[in-house]
Amino acid sequence: MTDFTTVQKNLTDRGFAVKVFATGAEAAAYLNGAIDGTSVGIGGSVTVQELGLHELLAAHNQVHWHWANGPTARTAAMNAQVYITSVNGLAETGELINIDGAGNRVAGTLFGHQKVYFVVGRNKLAPTYEQALWRARNIAAPKNAQRLNCKTPCAAKGDRCYDCKSPGRICRGLVVLWEAMMDMEMEVVLVDEDLGY
Ligand code: SF4
Repeated sequence: MTDFTTVQKNLTDRGFAVKVFATGAEAAAYLNGAIDGTSVGIGGSVTVQELGLHELLAAHNQVHWHWANGPTARTAAMNAQVYITSVNGLAETGELINIDGAGNRVAGTLFGHQKVYFVVGRNKLAPTYEQALWRARNIAAPKNAQRLNCKTPCAAKGDRCYDCKSPGRICRGLVVLWEAMMDMEMEVVLVDEDLGY
């Protein structure tokens, strides 16, 4: 069982609410109960996909997700009351790290919502900021490049980031949340299962 005690304390000290669940199914049930009768935007997230959150929430919310509703849903998602995504790396010291290509996912974590949820599996956790950043660049990004069939060296080899200059480079912006942003509720939902990349 993963010991989330340290990261939970550090996230709390940085202004994030934190919930911990043993399984993804329990986390999904919690979110399905907490988010009701509102508008929801979802950032590109294999974690969210694995939990089936779009299907669950769309039954009783207005959900905007470009993976399900097409590219124009990105704009609607930006204006939703609630935003849900994951992270590419979470430092045990409490920093949340995301790398993005189009920018909608990281933008959605910075401004414009009443509340942002980050659903984070245990595999995203790294002891330090530097190691969490390394993970985001060398594990999460290459796996996402492979998923998207990008013509990048990381997708071809699958072993690390090559800091490429490819036209198909998906790593174009890095957002680190040192603390919860002002004037928005931010909650990290930690799950003791591997989820996403
Ligand atoms: S910068 Fe290029 S090589 Fe590195 S992970 Fe991103 S797409 Fe892959």
